[in-house]
Amino acid sequence: MHINDLPHEILSNILQETVDANEAEGVGYTYGLSQAPLPLEKAKLTKYVRGPLSPECQRWDATNSIRQVCGQWHEWALNYNFEHVFERRWRGAERWANLSIRRGSYSVYELIDSPSGYAVYRDPFGHLKETDRLFANASGCANAVRRMWFNGFYTAETDKLILSVVSHCPQLEYLSVPWTVLRRGTADDWVDLLNVGTGTGKPLHSLEFQAVCLPHDQALSLEEDPTPSPLDDPRVDFSALKRLKIFGNTLHKPICDEDLSQIARTATNLECLDITNLSTISVAGMLALVKASYSTLRVLEHSPRSSDGFWHPFPGRLDNGEHICELLAGLPEMRDLSISVPYMCADMFANHETKLRGELQVRATDICGCSTATGPSVRAERLEAVTVAVRRLINARKRTRLELSAELFFAGCIFQPEKELVHGDFALAEISSGGQWPVRKQPSTLGPYGQTGTYGKDEGYWDAVSEEEYLQAVSRGWVAL
Ligand SMILES: [Zn+2]
Repeated sequence: MHINDLPHEILSNILQETVDANEAEGVGYTYGLSQAPLPLEKAKLTKYVRGPLSPECQRWDATNSIRQVCGQWHEWALNYNFEHVFERRWRGAERWANLSIRRGSYSVYELIDSPSGYAVYRDPFGHLKETDRLFANASGCANAVRRMWFNGFYTAETDKLILSVVSHCPQLEYLSVPWTVLRRGTADDWVDLLNVGTGTGKPLHSLEFQAVCLPHDQALSLEEDPTPSPLDDPRVDFSALKRLKIFGNTLHKPICDEDLSQIARTATNLECLDITNLSTISVAGMLALVKASYSTLRVLEHSPRSSDGFWHPFPGRLDNGEHICELLAGLPEMRDLSISVPYMCADMFANHETKLRGELQVRATDICGCSTATGPSVRAERLEAVTVAVRRLINARKRTRLELSAELFFAGCIFQPEKELVHGDFALAEISSGGQWPVRKQPSTLGPYGQTGTYGKDEGYWDAVSEEEYLQAVSRGWVAL
């Protein structure tokens, strides 16, 4: 029997094993000169340094021989090489005159006593332009692309190139792009990018936006860009999207609540929503998407950034004073939840039919129904009701043999209801109690920056006290909620 007559999975496994072996044995490094002279400059090069070879190059080398066997193997190798495409901005401008392009003969280079090279100008967008040219001319390569990741490109020119590259790849399912692509892309670009009901290829499954603060000239050109928002166009359809991630802070045309409520009009099937490390989206924007994808959402992470680290992650306010605890508790498919909300109460943990598991994290600034006029004993009662509700929920999940643990970030402390512990900096409370409180405390490994504990230099040590003692201190006014 001919090897190509084997079932596809088996043949694919054999080729994969070969590629893995080739990759392990192949060259994993390349050379760079420590000081490259400018053209016409006479400088002796004394040093050369080794750097790691990019994973893309290693993968390409590993399939060299396979690509030459037959059409079927060539196609398999293209799928392997182009399944994931990473595009980074080019940095550095050296060229090595006597470095072989055959990486297999690199060991010879080690023998050269005086390596030579030139510093030449290289287009920082050269890779992107070449990718665009390649995919435009070789549909075999473009059709193999499933996942693409663009990083470090924020100009009008690169946004166009990114959209052009994406438009060549009909089977693309996972895409990570700078947020500028949303700002400068047209409605037609986005219809093509999301690829819902266009009749060719697959719709986009996962979309990630990364944002950064831009240097002055790039920021200015973005802010002056007149392109109308593609989200205004009803043809831009997010209904096939399963995962949306928005990451990073920017000051220039950031993704905001209004964008999210426009996306929410069609994003009705999201399974994973992740909004992290940014302060331009409030709980209102998050809720618009949560409501739109109410019946499908499984993973929800909303942790905005605050100006002082993670100390007070301010989630924003809800103008209409809506009570969202029940809504969040009722999400039928929710498994992993980590959110920052303005208010929480026991209702958030009341639904024992939930599918929650793993680690549950809730960061809240206050308790539902409390205002500045609420006395400390009422607050202590309501807080106790919350931790009791969390314990009941954890026990209910245990009965279905699913582990759930919970951490509540509230009033500058971290609550671990299943251990009945509260972690925090209680130095002031000790002083105001005149040394009566706490009766018992233990050192804590937690801190305001999470598990790492000691992150900032001026950060005090944290202690852990029992929940009972903590609540006593609250009702006696030693700890202010
Ligand atoms: Zn509530």
